[in-house]
Amino acid sequence: MLQDKDRIFTNLYGFHSPGLEAAKMRGAWDGTKFLLEKGRDWIIDEMKASGLRGRGGAGFPTGLKWSFMPKASDGRPHYLVVNADESEPGTCKDREIMRNDPHLLIEGCLIASFAMGAHAAYIYIRGEYVGERHALQRAVDEAYAAKLIGKDNIHGYPFDLYVHHGAGAYICGEETALIESLEGKKGMPRLKPPFPANMGLYGCPTTVNNVESIAVAGTILRRGASWFAGIGRPNNVGTKLFCVSGHVNKPCNVEEAMGLTFRELIDRHCGGIRGGWDNLLAVIPGGSSVPVVPADQIIDAPMDFDTLRGLRSGLGTAAVIVMDKSTDIVRAIARISYFYKHESCGQCTPCREGTGWMWRVLNRMAEGRAQKREIDMLLEVSTQIEGHTICALGDAAAWPVQGLIRHFRHEIEKRIDDYAANPHSESVLIAAE
Ligand code: SF4
Repeated sequence: MLQDKDRIFTNLYGFHSPGLEAAKMRGAWDGTKFLLEKGRDWIIDEMKASGLRGRGGAGFPTGLKWSFMPKASDGRPHYLVVNADESEPGTCKDREIMRNDPHLLIEGCLIASFAMGAHAAYIYIRGEYVGERHALQRAVDEAYAAKLIGKDNIHGYPFDLYVHHGAGAYICGEETALIESLEGKKGMPRLKPPFPANMGLYGCPTTVNNVESIAVAGTILRRGASWFAGIGRPNNVGTKLFCVSGHVNKPCNVEEAMGLTFRELIDRHCGGIRGGWDNLLAVIPGGSSVPVVPADQIIDAPMDFDTLRGLRSGLGTAAVIVMDKSTDIVRAIARISYFYKHESCGQCTPCREGTGWMWRVLNRMAEGRAQKREIDMLLEVSTQIEGHTICALGDAAAWPVQGLIRHFRHEIEKRIDDYAANPHSESVLIAAE
């Protein structure tokens, strides 16, 4: 269990002030100048040694990502862009950082920008996060007033930080769509390559990082890479914010050590499963885009990147959506399909047409109005979408459907049988409503 002394986000629940003075008392901005004086290479090496993997979902090593930026400028400015477009259903961790511990994020922006030779950074915040934008802007203004950032700051590294408010499109959480949107265009993903580290914002070298990945940087450097690397399991280290929602007794956000088991997470922090452990049906462990895992496979599984990938799912954003046996699992996945259909930007045919098609078929299956051979057809179509699109939204739409068929095919078949046996029964009509 993560001890209090090892927590990075000590004001996650907003029990204390998010203001500058209180943040300093909690350790933010402590010795930042000293860290910068150690140099760019030291910072990047230390981040690599810490083993931090990106907290936005993909789990790519953060230090390595920073090292992809050109060492010297070819005349173009470098940029850091912080992805605060937290829109993955079930995910609500970055929101708490921006509300309650914004100075950790601002300090992280300065350190990361320094390490990558960027003199400007942008925080792209989700359109719906109005209160969070105000909280963050207040903190940025405080940091400017205290000369912690700005052209002429006490750290001796000119640095400007801008908060940019999105308009509420899920796809702007994809890094290249985010960059397009930041440039004032429609938020549509770009084909890669070129990758943002070569040609990103305004055609300049850019790194896009998640809020949590940046906000932990200052503490990691202060306490040392070995401290962070000593928490968790090999290749899956450090602390992580988990957002637990659904059928638990006390849904919550909590910072825990990577690799604690699902059972520990739920029993320690969420008051157990509603109706007891025998009532657990399945879990979506990393936000709506990762495949569902049935109860027997997840209960004692460590919650980390590699274990959950081994279960053919993923840690994603660590948004743990718990479903008990009262859940209509087919309808739940159909609802997720609707979300991806709605959020598809429409550039690629497999995603534009396929997401709507999958949603319509799943909707029929939720009612039993389908043929059993359509189950394999649905699986086949999902594999035609996966990996055949410009961005990962195609995959995100396909994986939940694949997870449903992999683990709950019997449930779909039962509905089809029930409907065939009695198409006008009351239960079928209720399901159809
Ligand atoms: Fe747009 Fe979907 Fe293609 Fe992504 S996969 S670029 S969301 S159409």
